[in-house]
Amino acid sequence: IGGPKNLPILESYLDDEECEAKKISSSKPRLVILGSGWGAVALLKNVNPNDYHITVISPRNHFLFTPMLPSATVGTLEFRSLVEPIRRIVATINGHYIEASAEKIEFNDRLIEVKQGLPDGSIRAFYVPYDKLVVAVGSQSNTHGVDGLEHCNFLKTIEDARLIREKVFRNLELACLPGTSEEERKRLLSFVVCGGGPTGVEFAAELYDFFNEDLCNTYPKLLRNLVSVHIVQSQGHILNTYDEKISEYAHERFKNDSIDVLTNARVKCVEADRVIFSQKNAEGVAENKELPYGLCLWSTGVTLCDITKDIAASFPQSQHNRRAIETDTHLRVLGAPLGEVYAIGDCSTVRTNITEHIFEFLKTYAMKANTTVEKFEITFQQWRDIATNIKRRFPQANEHLRRVDTLFTEFDEDHSGTLGFSELTALLKNIDSKMTSLPATAQRANQQGQYLGRKFTKLARAQETLAMDEIVNKDVDDLVYKPFVYHHLGSLAYVGNAAVFDFNGYSLVGGLVAVYLWRSVYFAQSVSFRTRALLFMDWLTRGLFGRDITP
Ligand code: FAD
Ligand code: MG
Ligand code: MG
Ligand code: MG
Ligand code: MG
Repeated sequence: IGGPKNLPILESYLDDEECEAKKISSSKPRLVILGSGWGAVALLKNVNPNDYHITVISPRNHFLFTPMLPSATVGTLEFRSLVEPIRRIVATINGHYIEASAEKIEFNDRLIEVKQGLPDGSIRAFYVPYDKLVVAVGSQSNTHGVDGLEHCNFLKTIEDARLIREKVFRNLELACLPGTSEEERKRLLSFVVCGGGPTGVEFAAELYDFFNEDLCNTYPKLLRNLVSVHIVQSQGHILNTYDEKISEYAHERFKNDSIDVLTNARVKCVEADRVIFSQKNAEGVAENKELPYGLCLWSTGVTLCDITKDIAASFPQSQHNRRAIETDTHLRVLGAPLGEVYAIGDCSTVRTNITEHIFEFLKTYAMKANTTVEKFEITFQQWRDIATNIKRRFPQANEHLRRVDTLFTEFDEDHSGTLGFSELTALLKNIDSKMTSLPATAQRANQQGQYLGRKFTKLARAQETLAMDEIVNKDVDDLVYKPFVYHHLGSLAYVGNAAVFDFNGYSLVGGLVAVYLWRSVYFAQSVSFRTRALLFMDWLTRGLFGRDITP
């Protein structure tokens, strides 16, 4: 019992003494990971099992292979092929799993307040202590304060996909039921997707494929003409985070497929059977419109979980981003005790405030020259040093600092051969603005998890060799490991028997080849051999027998 709320503190686990390996690990530093998604699992797969006493806390007892989730909504893939029990992953590293939610972190006491609802309706709350904490709790669907979202479906969890699948098949049966009017049939078979990002687009494409490929074989052919698929997108394009060519291709593709794409349209509210939205016409005047629906998918982006907000709010001096927990380039939560709390994946962002960092560095120059930063003039040689320092600290700035000399002359506005305070500020701001924030993707969460897993293994080694004063006084992460760099490996989206691929301005669109490329990329990202085998079987089964039309 202890902590600010006097709750029981979990000191030992049921299986700590079970075998020699577990006994050893229970004497190691306690590494606690919140979440069982992409970030968490990548970490678990990369950390050395014998270095830490590892605990995963998550209300979800499985890893979910999210990129394939849209395919599960219409039976192209089976649900079980997309999930992997977290206990199986944890067991391979002698770790522990607690099925519960983290509610609050007591950073001073290094305790996590954990809660789980029990079958009798009561709640069990306790503290889990940590030495190192990794927050990888992901994000939740964004509601944008629109009314009536209780009528909508979402697509983030396996339960969401199951509900959609049930509704699709139920609506088909209701449409076939004697006594259903033509108008009602049309409504039941109208699918409205709010949000033109990859999830919404892929769901629309999957639905469309399903209606074309399987519906006519199994349901009355008449239904085919009554089906409609609509995408309501607030911006001018769908897939607007992708290359322009890709977004145009997707548009064309959908036009041919007669998927109705409504751009510059803002959803005002969702009623039980219709979506009310306003759309700008050619003259830029907003007109109110409505679309009856049988199923409405809400996928307009993501927002913070409560625990994420709470963590960010715990460090008001250091956390300034409203949309994520900010970390430094070593993925440590800014403001938290150094080396104790990390954040990865959708819930986090890496702060790249070069300007602030460099002014700290400049102070030492200015001090040597007996002047202040504001009055200091930077020579070309000093600028080179600064650039080297920036590149080391912020590897993602590399590409913007390739031509160090050109930058110097470009920003030396008064041609003095030196950079004054305002000139340097302008230069650094320019670089800062070019460094985009990290995308909320599995790709990124996976890379960050891998990075932390490898670093923690290195850190454990370092604890054995570093002198005590180095551990206490120095920045150990910086001493033993490089900062995190994100490598963009391209984005993919499925647009109906074709895939679009976007990689640093190169875009690729195509028919069957792209589809197989798309699949093989995700095969490679897939977590286990079991998952691969299951996905492969699903595609084979679908190829031979069509989709499974039972919910
Ligand atoms: P998640 O994978 O979401 O995991 C978060 C975990 O934290 C979950 O296990 C959750 O249960 C747990 N959790 C939540 N609250 C708490 C709490 N209080 N305490 C403890 N645990 C908690 N990305 C791509 O790169 N390519 C794609 O093609 C792609 N397609 C997608 C399709 C869909 C339908 C969706 C929904 C997402 C897709 N994404 C894709 C995005 C990708 O899934 C996310 O970016 C990724 O899951 C983020 O990983 P994460 O570890 O941060 O969070
Ligand atoms: Mg995770
Ligand atoms: Mg996930
Ligand atoms: Mg996360
Ligand atoms: Mg000058």
